[in-house]
Amino acid sequence: AAAPADAPTIFDKIIKKEIPANVVYEDDKVLAFRDIAPQAPTHILIIPKVKDGLTGLSKAEERHFEILGHLLYTAKLVAKQEGLEDGFRVVINDGPQGCQSVYHIHVHLLGGRQMNWPPG
Ligand code: 5GP
Repeated sequence: AAAPADAPTIFDKIIKKEIPANVVYEDDKVLAFRDIAPQAPTHILIIPKVKDGLTGLSKAEERHFEILGHLLYTAKLVAKQEGLEDGFRVVINDGPQGCQSVYHIHVHLLGGRQMNWPPG
């Protein structure tokens, strides 16, 4: 079930540096860090520093256009930084059927191995 829009998640603790994360990219609006349970040689999560109601993509509103573009563009920057010139995948899981587990929007960047299509 979806969590309330203002409910804190583990990612708030990472943003506040209350728990450690392996940060690979950061600017004023977004943070990118390695997933604790990587599903590929490169597996990075890209999140907005301010959630602003974006528990997941399904909650997006027009006011989020800029941050949504920023998240996706950061995936491109980090893919280049990680040397994923042969390709990569970005994923946004949403809701129970999308296997979302953390209700603070995040883009998964996966690479370093051959991906499969369709995903499971
Ligand atoms: P979701 O399933 O919501 O799309 O993705 C959540 C991701 O967050 C999972 O891939 C999970 O491994 C990752 N994750 C959960 N807790 C932590 C944590 O404390 N640190 C890091 N680096 N990743 C986490």
